[in-house]
Amino acid sequence: MTQLILATHNDHKAQEFRDILPQYSVQTLADFGHDDEIEETATSLEGNSFIKAETIFKRYGHVVISDDSGLEVDALNGIPGVYSARYAGEPRNDQRNTEKLLKELQGVFNRKAQFRTVITLMSAENSFQFEGIIRGTIAKSARGEAGFGYDPVFIPDGVQQTFGELTANEKNKISHRANAIEKLLHFLNEHPTFC
Ligand code: IMP
Repeated sequence: MTQLILATHNDHKAQEFRDILPQYSVQTLADFGHDDEIEETATSLEGNSFIKAETIFKRYGHVVISDDSGLEVDALNGIPGVYSARYAGEPRNDQRNTEKLLKELQGVFNRKAQFRTVITLMSAENSFQFEGIIRGTIAKSARGEAGFGYDPVFIPDGVQQTFGELTANEKNKISHRANAIEKLLHFLNEHPTFC
């Protein structure tokens, strides 16, 4: 089975990649004993996704995939975006981030937002990026216990519930990450010798 390294320590993410790429053996940094945090110093999702892939490719010399995601709120000009994980400051805390967002949007009529993911696929010769987006609305208050991050306040278009109220299966069928992984899969199918 062809091996792909996913530049993350997040098992939840790894599972999403494995579900959509069953024909690949997706290994995480833990499988390589790579404990160091990768510094995400870029000011865009594209930049941080690239940094993660490049760091791991340089270290292990193996085809690597990485992703970086964020919540982009229309009325806040795309904020928190690349800063989603630490929107309410250090240490990163999902509940404080969500509370800060709801406060910023108090009385704001336009609650449209999107989750966006950028996946980087890197080999010795080339690197490619794949974007996944899901549009939705920010709820007036948090609902649901499932998922992580901003899931309890994000209502995807065409659905009544927040991501926090959907099962992992339901979310993973329509999420930004699923969308980007599908594009990656399509690319790998079209370029069978890439890995
Ligand atoms: P990451 O780059 O995928 O680790 O995402 C950075 C931050 O964006 C996370 O810490 C969350 O705050 C937020 N985020 C990304 N994807 C999701 C999601 O699927 N649900 C909720 N929040 C997310």
